[in-house]
This record gives sequence, structure tokens and C-alpha cells, in this order.
Amino acid sequence: MRVLKFGGSSLASAERFRQVADIITDKSQSSKVAVVVSAPQGVTNHLVAMAENISDEAKMVTDLNHFKRAITTIIEDLSASLPEFNSQHCEQALTNYEQQLQRYMQGISMLTYCPDHIRARIISTGERLSVAILDSVLQSSGLQVSLLVPERFLFTTESSLNAVADLVLSKEKFIGEYDKLNQVSLMPGFIGMSVSKNGGEGQITTLGRNGSDYSAAVLAVCMQAECCEIWTDVDGVYNADPRMIKEAKLLDYLSYQEAMELSYFGASVLHPKTIGPIAQYHIPCLIKNTSNPSAPGTLISNENDQQKRVKAISNLDDLTMVNVSGPGMKGMVGMASRVFATMSRENISLVLISQSSSEYCISFCIYSSDALRAEQSLKEEFELELLNGLLEPIALKGELSIVSLVGDGMHHQRGVAAKFFSSLAQARVNVVAIAQDSSERSISVVIEQRKCTDAMKISHQNFFSHKPTIDVFLVGCGVVGSELIAQISRQQASLKEQNIALTVYGIANSKGMVFDKAGIDLDNWQAAMEKGADNKQALEVNVDNIKAFVRDNHLVNPVLVDSTSNEALAMSYVGYLAEGFHVVTPNKKANTDSWKYYKELRSTAQKTNRRFLYETTVGAGLPVIDTLQSLIKAGDQLQRFEGVLSGSLSYIFGKLDEGMALSAATAIAKENGFTEPDPRDDLSGMDVARKLLIMAREAGMQLELSDITIESVLPNDFDDSGDVNEFMTNLTKIDGDFSARIAAANAEGKVLRYIGNIVDGKCQVSIEAVDSAHPLYSIKDGENALAIHSRYYQPLPFVLRGYGAGAAVTAAGVFGDILRTLAWEQQH
Ligand code: ADP
Ligand code: ASP
Ligand code: MG
Repeated sequence: MRVLKFGGSSLASAERFRQVADIITDKSQSSKVAVVVSAPQGVTNHLVAMAENISDEAKMVTDLNHFKRAITTIIEDLSASLPEFNSQHCEQALTNYEQQLQRYMQGISMLTYCPDHIRARIISTGERLSVAILDSVLQSSGLQVSLLVPERFLFTTESSLNAVADLVLSKEKFIGEYDKLNQVSLMPGFIGMSVSKNGGEGQITTLGRNGSDYSAAVLAVCMQAECCEIWTDVDGVYNADPRMIKEAKLLDYLSYQEAMELSYFGASVLHPKTIGPIAQYHIPCLIKNTSNPSAPGTLISNENDQQKRVKAISNLDDLTMVNVSGPGMKGMVGMASRVFATMSRENISLVLISQSSSEYCISFCIYSSDALRAEQSLKEEFELELLNGLLEPIALKGELSIVSLVGDGMHHQRGVAAKFFSSLAQARVNVVAIAQDSSERSISVVIEQRKCTDAMKISHQNFFSHKPTIDVFLVGCGVVGSELIAQISRQQASLKEQNIALTVYGIANSKGMVFDKAGIDLDNWQAAMEKGADNKQALEVNVDNIKAFVRDNHLVNPVLVDSTSNEALAMSYVGYLAEGFHVVTPNKKANTDSWKYYKELRSTAQKTNRRFLYETTVGAGLPVIDTLQSLIKAGDQLQRFEGVLSGSLSYIFGKLDEGMALSAATAIAKENGFTEPDPRDDLSGMDVARKLLIMAREAGMQLELSDITIESVLPNDFDDSGDVNEFMTNLTKIDGDFSARIAAANAEGKVLRYIGNIVDGKCQVSIEAVDSAHPLYSIKDGENALAIHSRYYQPLPFVLRGYGAGAAVTAAGVFGDILRTLAWEQQH
């Protein structure tokens, strides 16, 4: 004997009914089957709404019509598709139940109140209709079906709408009621019968929302079934709710305890009370997919699972935390029991409890639908204590969720809790309360509901999928930005191999940012930008807009990549870091603003556990910043520094060596993309000064940009006004002077180099004439060279040399920084 339960999702349409009938027919070939059915999907909701809208007759009628429509559609579609289908039988059943519902509605309207047993009758009507319809479908294919009536044996205690089955009594009654059954029997789920005090006939009860799973478990016990199969709309139990976590993995096996914890803490694939009976009677339970019957499903039993480990993560929403605290709690025997007795009297179930060791406070979570009643009853119970100040006002905090990590093998693994909490920190989730059962089978945390998806996503990533995400928002798609996009696009396959999901969700140019929640197609990003601009979909680049996108799409590792040289954007990094973005940039403006802002950037990044990465601000792709930071961390001290820090000036001065005029060399450098868009930024020395300041600050020197002595390539009296073209024309006016300066240097066997120096705590950028013995003599063609003289590196300096400008190396450096945002994740 096997029990098969089909949920509302498996009975949502005529086609589903036919699938269900096929499965039953197939299964009944090899074994007797007892089938438990829910109401067709959505139907119970209409009925519940009906019973709740007593004061609004029009609304009640609307709900009744919704209910009728749903059932009629199924009946009509079945009679159109199944020739032998007895639609009259079903229509008659619908008419009867509809009339009954109307009578109940009239009655409760007059009473202005709906007694629980009437409510139970109303809301379980869908199950009865499912039985009528499925019976007709099965009969149309010639199967003889026995009808099981839960009121005759499924006896329950406790609440009428969330009833608990009396297994021993139910089993006894079942045996007494049914001795001979057909190959297929059929029973409505969700329904029970209360045991009356005098042992006589009780009232109809329901087993709680989603309770047909529980009906099936009880029936399996009553029939001593060899297996209880729960047929639903997913292939089995996943290691997280598959609606929320795309990467959720199907589990082939769960122990009873694991299944119990998971369903209790929100895995709605199983009603939480289902496992109790089948575990007690050692009946295996199989979760199967009605639309994919050949999939093996998930087995729940007490077999010894070899893979002891963290199995799954679940979430339970719509909770409220109640806090009872105050000096009166301490050492007062019986306070806790009064709190809990009050809840029990009100029939309010406690989802999770935690108490501080100081006994000052008891906190517990309840469903938010019970919050008002809980508050009211606690106020009444503790009226005196509240009046005398022995208790603080009862505090309630709503809109909470519980996230639970579940697995029998958790106590075999160290560091699970640590990993869980650091995942929550990574998702920037504040933990309101914690609970762990002493079997170490689950750890649960109470958090704000709005953060639940983020918490689930990151925890799932860190425990199961091991596929970290990087969610990029790129501002600036000029030379470096567009090269970066090309590189990211090229590397997608390799990133996939490394199990990293790097997605560019937003790209901005001067017109604004275009977003795509599926990720921008990096091979056609220009088209996406144009389309976005044409449709006026591009949004202004600001923290609020990007943050809203991140929040709505539950992105957990957002990275702002600034490849502009924009000052305003640089000044908003603190805002991005504060909102949980990593910031990656080749833009030097932020690091060369005031010392105060420089420190603020770092302290904000530290506070929010985010990274501010700017390796490409000095020496483009050369590993300058990282190297310097490592040296300083290891106790090294910068003593002296000299370097050619500008790719463009390295290129230009190299060309001057070859006899080219300054204006011509600048034009070529500009053409080859070596200079900033406006070459004045290079020739003024400001760009080199900024790099020098960044180096100096990395070495611990508290300097401002104004502390740096700058010798511009352009003479003091040079007219540098006008646009870039005018400037380029004007530049020819100093070609002569410059050539003379070079000739003088050459005469001494020297060349001119534009050099940044840090000596004795002072920074200076200037044109120097150097001879062939000087390490910077041969630095040209866009190369950079940096000589770091330090406590550890002396007398010979540590030298870094290589291209210090150009789109490819700079973009590669930025790309490297983007990937380093994962380091924080991996450390935890
Ligand atoms: P039925 O109508 O068959 O009773 P339910 O909607 O009650 O179906 O339960 C099945 C749903 O449970 C799935 O569609 C899935 O969205 C949800 N669910 C939540 N957590 C899990 C999980 N861990 N594994 C599988 N399904 C889950
Ligand atoms: N039909 C009921 C509900 O929707 C019971 C169930 O589906 O299991 O809650
Ligand atoms: Mg269900």
C-alpha cells in the first residue's frame, strides 16, 4: 500500500488532473494506492477570503465567483478533453457545495461572526471538489475507486483550524471503518474531525494551511503504508527555495530530522507537521514531481546518510519578535512560564525563543498575524508589573524573517556558524536574534525580512554553489572603459571555469546609466547604450539609482567601477562604500583630495567591509600600490623615491631625444592614446603630482596636493587658454626653447626626463637632465619606472618597470582590482 498526495499545484488545471490520473493508474498496477488531494491551486485562498469578509457581502460574492470560475474551468476543460468524463456528476457536486457555501455565508452575515467549525467547512470545500473531479476522471478510465471520509477516522485535538491528529485513535478508527478497499482509494486532504469531550461526534477541523501533506502522513500511518509520496511541482526538496535561489540543488536524501527542521523553518514543499507521524512509524517519504514523474525525487527516511554535512538553507517570513524585558525578569521564578502560558492560552505558536543569560530579557518570534493578540494578552497578563516599572513596555518588531541552516552533519564540521555569520556580514545583514538547537542540526538567525533574499543568496553561495558573484556598474566607457568591457567579455569563459559569475549590470556615459537586470550583453553594449538613451531609460549616475537597482535585484557584491577622471564622482565614493559597494578606479581625484577625505574613504570601506581599490592610479597596470602596501605592512619604510610616472611624458620625452619638436611629440602621444583627453593635464605636471601624492600617502606621509612642488613642462608665462586645438597650436611657440634645452643636455651626454621625487619627506616633480648612469636614462616610449629606496631595499632600490599607460594595461589592472573584490569573500 502506498499513499500518494497531490498538492494544489498538481491539480491546477484539467491537464494536471489528467497527469495525476495517469500517475495513479500507473502506480496502481503494482500496488494498492490511497490518494490524498488538495484543493486546486488558489481555490483555498478564495474560500479563506470569503470567510474573512463577513462584513462585506459584495466581496464575499466576488470570492465565491472566483472559486466557482476556477472549478468550472477545470470541469469544462476535462469534459472537452475526456470523452468518458462524467461532467454532470462534477457540476452537480459544484452546485451542491455552492449552495452550501451560500447558506454558510448568509448565516455568518447574520451572526457577524464565523465560528471555527463553519470556517473549517468553508475553507475545505476545494478538497471535496477535487475528490469529486478526480473520481470522475479515474472512473472515465474504468478505475473503481473507494472514497475515504476523513471525518470518520482522522481525529484531531487542539485548535480547530490548525488541528493536530491523534494518531493512535485515528489508526484504530480507520481499521474499524475500512476493511476492504479497492485498488485505488481517494480522500480529501486538509480535513479532520475533533474529538468531542464526551467522546461523541465532534466538529470538522482543518489541519492548517498546506495541511494535506499532513493528512497524507496520517493516512500512511493508519494504513501502515510502505511509502508516503508527496507529488508536487518541483523535482524534490532543494537545498534552498528554488523560487528564490536559481542555483539551488536538488537533494536526493534527507533524514526525518533534517526534513522536519527544513519544513518547520519555511521549506514550504512540506507542511511542518508531516514528518512527525511518518518518522514515528518509520514510513519512508518520497517527494516527486507530477510533471516529471520519471525524476527520482527526494527520499526522506532514517537511512544512515554517509554524507554528513550542511544540507540546506531555508527562510521563513512574516515574523514578529516580541521582547519582554525589565528588572522584574531577573531571578523571578515563573516569569518565563507566565509569558509562555499567555501565548499558549491565546493559541499563539512560538517559532523561535532566545533568552539573554542575564535573564533580563526573553525574546521570541511569532507569526506577524498573531502579533496584535500577543501584545494585548501580554499587556493584560503583566498589567501590574508594567505599571510598577518592573517590566519595560512590551516591544514588538515586525517584518522579520528567520534564515536557518540545516544538516545532521553540522556537528562534525567546525566553523559552520562562523561561516554563516560572516556570510550574513557580507550580505550586510544585521542579526536580530540567534538560536541553535543542542543537536546542532540547525542554526537559525532572525533578520529583517527585506534582507532575507540577500542573506539566503550569499549563504547559499558560500555553503553550496561556491560560485561567487561580482556585480559591476561601470561609469565611463571611453578608451579604458570600453577596453575593460572587451576584456571582461573575452574572459567570460575562463571566469566560468573558475566558477566566478561576473556580470556588468550597468554602463554609464555622459548621458546616464543604462541598466539590464539580465546583465548587459557585452558584445553589443554600444547598441544597448544607444537604445537606452533613445528610450530615455538612462538614469542619472548616483548612489540612489544604482542602490535601488542593487536592492531590487538582490545583488550582493556590487562594484562601482569609475573609469572617468570626473571629480564629482570621485567625491561620491564614500557614499557608495557606505551603501555596500566596492569601488574600483583608475581615477586619481579621490586619493588626491584632502587628507580628511582620503582617511574617510578608508574608514568607510573598513566599516562596511568593502574594498576601495585603485591599483591603476599609479603606473597603470604595474603592481605599484599593492607592492608598496605589502612592504609597508611588513615594516618597511620609504626613504627615497624617484620615478618616471607618466606614460605620456615618458613617450613625449623619448620622442624629444630623437629630435622631435615638443608640439609634434605631444600630438603623436595624443593620437596614440597616451595622453589624457586634454594633454594640458599631462604637460602641466598635475597628473604626475597626483601620482606622487598617492605614493607618498601610501608610504604614510600626511601631505596635500599643494605640498608638492611642480615644475610644469609649460613655462610660467605660457598662454594655455582656449580649447584643446588652440592649445596644440600654441604649443608650437615653445618648440624652439625646448629644443635648445635638449641640445644643452645632449652636449653633456644627458637626456631630459620628467621625474617625480620623494626626498626627505618632500615631493617634487620636475624636468631633470640625467646621464646614462642614471636608472631613468633609458625610460621612454611610454614606459614607467619606479625606484623605491627603503629600509629593506638599499643600497640598491626596488625597481618596477613597464608600460605605465595605454588602454590595454590600464583596463587589465582595473579588471584585476575588480576580481580582488572577491578576496574579502574568500577570507571568510
Ligand atoms: P503543493 O501545491 O504541491 O502543495 P507547495 O506550493 O505547497 O506545493 O510546495 C511546493 C513549493 O515549495 C515549490 O514550488 C517551491 O517553490 C517551494 N519550496 C520552498 N522551499 C523549497 C525547497 N527547499 N525545496 C523545494 N521546494 C521548495
Ligand atoms: N488546500 C489547503 C491549502 O491551500 C491545503 C493544502 O493545499 O495542502 O492550504
Ligand atoms: Mg503544499
